Amino acid sequence: MKAISIDGSRGEGGGQILRSSLTLSMITGRPLHMINIRAGRKKPGLLRQHLTAVQAARDISGATVEGAQLGSRTLSFRPITISPGRYFFAIGSAGSATLVLQTVLPALLTVPGRSQLVIEGGTHNPAAPPFDFLAKSYVPLINRMGARVTCTLHRYGFFPAGGGRFMADIESSGTLQPLKLMERGQLRSRTIRARVLNLPLSIADREIKVLRERLGWKAEELVAEELPHGRGIGNVITAEMAYDNVTEVITGFGRRGVAAETVADSLADAVEEYMRSDAPVGEHLADQLMLACAIADGGEYLGVKASSHSQSNKEVLRAFLGCELELCPLKTDTVKFSYKGTRFIP
Ligand code: ATP
Repeated sequence: MKAISIDGSRGEGGGQILRSSLTLSMITGRPLHMINIRAGRKKPGLLRQHLTAVQAARDISGATVEGAQLGSRTLSFRPITISPGRYFFAIGSAGSATLVLQTVLPALLTVPGRSQLVIEGGTHNPAAPPFDFLAKSYVPLINRMGARVTCTLHRYGFFPAGGGRFMADIESSGTLQPLKLMERGQLRSRTIRARVLNLPLSIADREIKVLRERLGWKAEELVAEELPHGRGIGNVITAEMAYDNVTEVITGFGRRGVAAETVADSLADAVEEYMRSDAPVGEHLADQLMLACAIADGGEYLGVKASSHSQSNKEVLRAFLGCELELCPLKTDTVKFSYKGTRFIP
């Protein structure tokens, strides 16, 4: 079969084009030839997280691979058969473990069977889905589409120390049902947790104080917590808003040299931005659900915006499946994502 050629410098030129291409190559069985991997990033080529995603995709699909080395900017990937089973993947750095799961999970959902994946690396990384987002926002929607996935956190892993670990138990019937998600429904609960690992609890207390003043949530909806001992240091704030039809998890990370109050302020801005729209699907969830729609061969949802990640996924879907996932702005802060699927192609 002729390989699909993907230029990794397209769109935002990061790791996501690679991961989505690997996923779609496994799902369609079409070989992938990729050039200019992560050409848009300061350190281009495969970093540990991306290399582990390639290796995980190889193990799960029995692929033959060329170019699977750190720093590689070219990759050839020829999948054979997707095999459910027990797998262990270790990134060996604080690279995002959740992104490795999101590379292989959609492929495992296209074949019937049970799998158990244990992945080590970063579980709470800036610019990647934090474990809480994965478990409370992304996975429940995948389950609503017909999968049975449970994720269990074993250890927190923050950048740069890493050392995190989680397990995903997956039961798949081999297909997903299309998702329709047009309304949030009623707000059922909302909680903000400011957590610290091997740092003074006063940092989390300061963050909570700012968030209470900015957002006006009730005292019991805001919690400052010390995490049980783990490697390195970390400070993460998560705002979890559970509606009837969707749970949005918005995350902020403390950084050296940035005041706790500033971190809390940015999180409050992000919460207010989500509240300004009434679209159910937040920016990050929106790009991540696109591949699930490809498996279901259909889907429709309202997102708060179409990010550059969504635009890149649209291109990769077109390259592999030949059909469009349409991103249609309806009004300020609302974009309709709709995928009619390959069965609609005459
Ligand atoms: P690089 O940009 O260095 O290549 P990468 O491979 O780690 O990095 P991207 O290509 O930027 O990552 O993709 C990041 C993914 O993480 C996207 O799917 C994005 O939606 C998701 N993501 C980023 N931040 C968050 C967040 N706060 N919550 C949930 N998901 C997030």
